[in-house]
Amino acid sequence: MTSPLLEVKSLKKYFDIKGGVFGRKVGEVKAVDDVSFSVMEGEILGIVGESGCGKSTTGKSILRLIEPTEGEVKFENRDITDLNAEEMRQLRRNMQIIFQDPYASLNPRHTVEKIISEPLLVHGMTSSKERESRVKELLEVVGLSAYHASRYPHQFSGGQRQRIGIARALANNPKLIICDEPVSALDVSVQSQILNLMEELRDEFNLTYVFIAHDLSVVKHISDRVGVMYLGRMVELTTKDKLYDDPKHPYTQALLSAVPSPDPDITRDRVILEGDVPSPASPPAGCAFHTRCPYAMGICKEVRPAFEEIEDNHFVACHLYGDAQ
Ligand code: SF4
Repeated sequence: MTSPLLEVKSLKKYFDIKGGVFGRKVGEVKAVDDVSFSVMEGEILGIVGESGCGKSTTGKSILRLIEPTEGEVKFENRDITDLNAEEMRQLRRNMQIIFQDPYASLNPRHTVEKIISEPLLVHGMTSSKERESRVKELLEVVGLSAYHASRYPHQFSGGQRQRIGIARALANNPKLIICDEPVSALDVSVQSQILNLMEELRDEFNLTYVFIAHDLSVVKHISDRVGVMYLGRMVELTTKDKLYDDPKHPYTQALLSAVPSPDPDITRDRVILEGDVPSPASPPAGCAFHTRCPYAMGICKEVRPAFEEIEDNHFVACHLYGDAQ
């Protein structure tokens, strides 16, 4: 069996809460708390969850755009968490990110040519002729035209701007792209065009994506496997079909019950979750979902359920499926 392109083990990212006159640490927000998963080459792993569940922090910690507190991130079998700045800069050629808001992530004072050329220059393409021709090639790859190179971001629609963001991410032929809510800011009609483009590019360039989104139907459209996060933890991870047809974790079941099914023969009872998502600064003890779970038992308040493989390629963190059942 081939080894994964990306392996994340026990990843944690805690943010200090400072307070008082001296700005001392008074607590911490456990934005990502012991998350583990792997992604095979050419695979699209979706990560889904409500706002504040830690999915974007996970993506940024993988690339060390924010430094993880603990844990291991292996890219091509090499732990990248202790690489120095120069080694990390070299590696970023292979690991790129596409952001949610293409307008905010593109410098409004730069032409498209300059925006897409920048990563080429950073990684050693010193000839301006070569850069110019690569920019034109990339614009065509993402469905724009060579003449767009001289324009500025404000002259494009939201969908076109995201195409520019994708062209910039592709500039140095990366292997892995972290897609951080890449279509959330777009109209529904444009979303599917961008998702289709991303799928075509994956096939053409053998890309691997970690696709982060809050919208379950968007993740379903594009992913091979899907992980569900709740309050900084991964609670379920399996193939797209298993997750959508037979969700095991009560949180996944509740999320999916709210998504209308395109098949009128499939009806799901709507599960209404009581209460708000607890603060990640003081997550509930035991299973973090116990304050809202319709199946919570005594043990759930005290013992954190392990994230375990309950059947082939189906991982769940829930006492309903563990030895405690
Ligand atoms: Fe619900 Fe308990 Fe499972 Fe948590 S461990 S999801 S509280 S049944």
